Amino acid sequence: MHHLEHIRQTDPEVFDLIVNEEKRQFEKIRLIPSENYVSTAVLEATGSVFTNKYSEGYSGKRYYEGQQYVDLLEDLANKRACELFGADHANVQPYSGSPANLAVYFGLLKPGDTVMGLALPHGGHLTHGWNVSITGNYYRSVQYTVHPETHRLDYDYIRELARKEQPKLIVAGATAYPRIIDFAAFRSIADEVGAFFLADMAHIAGLVAAGAHPSPVPHAHVVSTTTHKTLRGPRGGMLLMKNEVAEQIDRAVFPGLQGGPHNHTTAAIAVALKEAATPEFREYGHQIVKNARALAEALVEKGFKLITGGTDNHLILIDATSRGTRGRKLAKVLDRCGIVCNMNTIPFDPRKPFDPSGIRIGTPAITSRGMKEPEMKTLAGFFARAIDIIEDKEAQAVVAAEVAEFCKAFPAPGIRIG
Ligand SMILES: *Cc1c(COP(=O)(O)O)cnc(C)c1O
Repeated sequence: MHHLEHIRQTDPEVFDLIVNEEKRQFEKIRLIPSENYVSTAVLEATGSVFTNKYSEGYSGKRYYEGQQYVDLLEDLANKRACELFGADHANVQPYSGSPANLAVYFGLLKPGDTVMGLALPHGGHLTHGWNVSITGNYYRSVQYTVHPETHRLDYDYIRELARKEQPKLIVAGATAYPRIIDFAAFRSIADEVGAFFLADMAHIAGLVAAGAHPSPVPHAHVVSTTTHKTLRGPRGGMLLMKNEVAEQIDRAVFPGLQGGPHNHTTAAIAVALKEAATPEFREYGHQIVKNARALAEALVEKGFKLITGGTDNHLILIDATSRGTRGRKLAKVLDRCGIVCNMNTIPFDPRKPFDPSGIRIGTPAITSRGMKEPEMKTLAGFFARAIDIIEDKEAQAVVAAEVAEFCKAFPAPGIRIG
């Protein structure tokens, strides 16, 4: 019997799509740094009957009856989150990373207050005050950039900017920054100007849990994260906070922003948090970083220029123009070669966001498949070949077949083929 037997019977169209997606995730080298493979246990929890339950409110203070197990579940998830990250208080109800950030804005600020975050083209997230986001419209947003030469965060300049602009909230965290973030420095800047400090660790939560990146939790008033990136849980969001802001933030999540929490997601977050507290996960987090470093070195050897010259975390930003192409083009060619990544702006990019200079890659998903340093050399070889055959679709299909063969040796968590 197929593991999706019921869908196969009742809805062959969706069945086919799921099976094809499963095959795609198995046969390709997935390098999008915000993606991963969750365990079968996490998948089971997301597919559980907790999806049937409404539970607006918080444990012990709900608006509907029947919360005997939901309350225990949410308490367990919160307890595991606090223990894993050393937080005072946790909230696992945000539907995803963006609503988690929005809840912090809504909880701590008034419309029009000044917020300060890293500009999107420099690695920040939309919700850090970028102009198309609600966070750049309902608040007065001041954006900092990375240093024009080093392309790293420059804490003296950020401090100067904060002194001048007097923000009420300073946001640190990134979607495309390959280096360690100094959260203690951000807190000291926030304290100097009397701002709240929000650390958004969406990309690096798994590294933080594993001890492979310094934790923002001791420093920030609030830490936001997604649960589905390096943390390797279901799609979801989570807030960790100091007791002093807990009431305000909880009220902003519910009833401020959301209705009923996604209890099946809470179940899967609880499962993922238990997994993340194991020695195996610690090793996983450190291996992500070792792999990223090995891949960065191997790419440099193949003539690719990397932003900041390398990486300290799970992520690498490649300047595609260093090999005579562009981000959009290279991302498309790599996909046809069986290697999935995304185009990305590079700091001070002279090109447009829809056709930027760079691509962004990362090692969380391939490390979940057990790839190690030697495989990173193989991977850099595939990149170099993609450049050589950039106009030759037939040759690209040949590489894709080789990549699929290569992937067979690396079982993917949660995927029941191969
Ligand atoms: C991914 C990400 C988010 C948003 O998460 P969604 O779940 O996509 O809403 C927020 N902040 C940072 C830094 C991220 O990388």
